[in-house]
Amino acid sequence: MTTDSLNNTLFARAQKTTPGGVNSPVRAFKSVGGTPRFITRAEGPYFWDADGKRYIDYIGSWGPAIVGHAHPEVVKAVQDAAARGLSFGAPTEGEILMAEEICRLVPSIEQVRLVSSGTEATMSALRLARGATGRDKIVKFEGCYHGHADSLLVKAGSGLLTFGNPTSAGVPEDFVKHTLVLDYNNVAQLEDAFASMGDTIACVIVEPVAGNMNLIKATPEFLRAMRALCTKHGAVLIFDEVMCGFRVGLGGAQALYDIVPDLTALGKVIGGGMPVAAFGGRAELMQNMAPIGAVYQAGTLSGNPVAVAAGMTTLKLIQQPGFYEKLTAQTAKLAAGLAQAANEAGVTFCADSVGGMFGIYFSEEVPGSYAEMMAGDKTRFNTFFHAMLDEGVYFAPAAFEAGFVSAQHDDAVIEETIAAARRVFAKLA
Ligand code: PMP
Repeated sequence: MTTDSLNNTLFARAQKTTPGGVNSPVRAFKSVGGTPRFITRAEGPYFWDADGKRYIDYIGSWGPAIVGHAHPEVVKAVQDAAARGLSFGAPTEGEILMAEEICRLVPSIEQVRLVSSGTEATMSALRLARGATGRDKIVKFEGCYHGHADSLLVKAGSGLLTFGNPTSAGVPEDFVKHTLVLDYNNVAQLEDAFASMGDTIACVIVEPVAGNMNLIKATPEFLRAMRALCTKHGAVLIFDEVMCGFRVGLGGAQALYDIVPDLTALGKVIGGGMPVAAFGGRAELMQNMAPIGAVYQAGTLSGNPVAVAAGMTTLKLIQQPGFYEKLTAQTAKLAAGLAQAANEAGVTFCADSVGGMFGIYFSEEVPGSYAEMMAGDKTRFNTFFHAMLDEGVYFAPAAFEAGFVSAQHDDAVIEETIAAARRVFAKLA
């Protein structure tokens, strides 16, 4: 990128009025260095930056753009809804339709409440779990991100069974002293935790397919153990499917693994690029929510009619016959093609995918935990990222993020990506 790039000009300007120049930290390229691209428009598998450069986009707005950017049916639904009014602060039939659709597609959800962000969904699910059980302690796993609610902004002390320290300044120790952080995919540690304090644990919250420490799949044994321990000790099992819900397949990770959580948080895909998220689960639990129950939660824009129109249209499109088969095949093709290109060049690299989500790792083997993921070669990733960016391929700007494929990433797009990767790996070797 030349120094007279409009991206540079915009970034300099943005930093004057916005902290770090961005409205969500990972957009700032802090991890990979360089200037973030300012996006002017997007269509199908592509977006264009301020300099008019086109990129094949493997972020898809960090998950929502599963049918491709600016899908004509989604755009039309949004336009039609907007023409009828932007927000009423009173209920609409659209919200009922959306709730009915979510309950039909995710059978563990008998009742659901719509919110506007994944953070709200997990934060509210947590409050509900605590309210319903009358317990304070929660269990989360290292490397899982559940939004930025105080109790969940905790990282573990390198694999030790430990109560967390806040990851962010501004989170009082008192808020996180109830958050127990364990290793992902470590059944023995989970069993130990329940053996020593099971009857004081309100809930376990987990990304059943983790996408915030690159892509790391839970083992079936790990999720089964979690389900059994929660049932035995009267704790609430919360699946945070904000990212993997409707991304790894219809019905989410819980359908893939055949495990029934008590509560589920959803987001991203269910809004189709607009702010819709949700939490829901067993009706008997959800009946604890205000206005009928004692657990308070609310939102001025919750169930917003324009956002719900985008979400409902997206939910309709992903139910077209063969949608997930094709998405899964295209994503697997990308992962295999990248791995083969690296292998041909002699670069240590591997890749993995599930549904429309993928991970790329500069390590010998696909990691199974946060610690294993952190052992990968981050410097190499950064070089790879920038070289691919120059080639017009936009991967997530951090080694710790999963990637996303849309239904518009056809064979030509995937092949173009792999050809670019072949050139880049040859330079990296
Ligand atoms: N949970 C998971 C698993 C997520 O991936 C995210 C966002 N990346 C969130 C919660 C928070 O969602 P939001 O950014 O919409 O608040």
